[in-house]
Amino acid sequence: MTIQELIILGKKYLHKDQVMMLLGSILGYDSLELLLHLDENVSDSKIKEFQEKIALLKNKPIQYVIGNVNFYGNIFKVNENVLIPRFETEELVENTINLIKEHFDKPVNIIDLGTGSGCIGITLKKKLPESRVTLLDISNDALKVSRDNALLNKVDVSFIQSDMWNNVYDKYDVIISNPPYIKNDEEIEDIVYNNEPHLALYGGIDGLDIYKKIRNNLENYVNDKFILAMEIGYDEKDDIIKLFSDMKDVSITCKKDLSGRDRMIFVIRDK
Ligand code: GLN
Repeated sequence: MTIQELIILGKKYLHKDQVMMLLGSILGYDSLELLLHLDENVSDSKIKEFQEKIALLKNKPIQYVIGNVNFYGNIFKVNENVLIPRFETEELVENTINLIKEHFDKPVNIIDLGTGSGCIGITLKKKLPESRVTLLDISNDALKVSRDNALLNKVDVSFIQSDMWNNVYDKYDVIISNPPYIKNDEEIEDIVYNNEPHLALYGGIDGLDIYKKIRNNLENYVNDKFILAMEIGYDEKDDIIKLFSDMKDVSITCKKDLSGRDRMIFVIRDK
């Protein structure tokens, strides 16, 4: 069968974009290259792989089937032990890079709390190569993925296995986190609920458990001047602002994501 025939076959079951992503990942082509090779014959083993993966895709996110995802222009391996990076998190990274450039004129010491695939911290290290970056997660399985991603993206970063601050002994200029923030009883899509790690999704009854852990003894882990950047649930702005507002000399801002939902909180001390 040719590439063209496989695209037609795949479109019976999947959205065209998914077909192109899947076929491209199997054949090592991007979407444009696929279109330039429509008449190329595909080997039986690759056809079999394509058919098997189409079957899997009924219940699984395409990123887990393909095994990687593009985040902020770089490729990250993902599996069921880590959350699939979302667009909103690219916005968190983008805004944080801008704030770092605005507030610091020296290399910064960064920690990514609950790093999962490592996409946040590794992207920051790539964009700010002079910075020191530590990736922290409670899950050893997640840390394995983030280690692979550091190698894949050729960055030198450190790793800590820890339930939040328990095993942390340094002070940081930048603390960044996309913690689990979904409320335990909140309805989420089946494909997310059935595949992605609940450890990375659920933040307790009010969704705020991990923000409370971040707040707890935070003063011991930040330098005088610091930026704390967090992704938040769309309805958690007021509670989270309240949680951090008793810190001395901080300014707290909330930013919406591109869909217009409150999505990021920045706690900054710069004086
Ligand atoms: N943004 C993710 C979702 O909506 C949740 C990620 C998180 O809890 N940090 O599925």
